[in-house]
Amino acid sequence: MTKPLIAVTCGDRILFQTDYYGGERVSYTLATVTRAIQKAGGLAVILPIHDPALSASYIEKMDGLVLTGGADVSPQFYGQNPKPKINRFDPRRDEREFELLEQALELHMPILGICRGFQLINIALGGDVYQDLSYHPNISVQHDQLTNANMPVHSIDVKAHSHFASLTPNQSTVNSYHHQVIHHLADDLQAVAWSEDGIIEAAEALNDDYNIVAVQYHPENIIDENPVHLNVFTDFIQRVNDYRS
Ligand code: MN
Repeated sequence: MTKPLIAVTCGDRILFQTDYYGGERVSYTLATVTRAIQKAGGLAVILPIHDPALSASYIEKMDGLVLTGGADVSPQFYGQNPKPKINRFDPRRDEREFELLEQALELHMPILGICRGFQLINIALGGDVYQDLSYHPNISVQHDQLTNANMPVHSIDVKAHSHFASLTPNQSTVNSYHHQVIHHLADDLQAVAWSEDGIIEAAEALNDDYNIVAVQYHPENIIDENPVHLNVFTDFIQRVNDYRS
């Protein structure tokens, strides 16, 4: 079988004047994400800034969808005004990604959500987030680590017998650089990993209607530090190959 094509979402920004093409808008994503997909056997394809109306055309060429990390999701999509501690958000990126997600869900395509991607999936399916860690009543773990991104810092409890448990051992240590956390989890998702203070660190589809695994941490940045975290990507590519055949 040929290698599967994996759509990878991107952020967009204006380059600094000191950069080559300074002042121009660019599409970008973390190289650690595309590398992890390649290591797991997929061909990563970064989807550029586009009109959401093109989403169906993009998705029909693809075999899997990875929703990557980045800015906060605009709170308008879960019916709230921005609170003082929300970070930068970009409703245009949100609209592109909601549309890509909707098209992928319609095809029952395998989906992997990472950090913002997890939150975006949750919001699309009817859940919401705390706009900042400080709005959550019981945070006792540092979730926005100052340590380098490739350093696993906090442990997670993994739900026994879940799909996620087949790829990530209980009491694994993960990195953590998110300032928002899941509040209400969407009905079609189930929590499958938690930090010690009860924050949802991973979720998967509740039933076969959807093919989703989503993580709050960044496994792509700790696959060298602890190769067990590559399993999130090898499992995803396995699901993609099952979907294709
Ligand atoms: Mn965390």
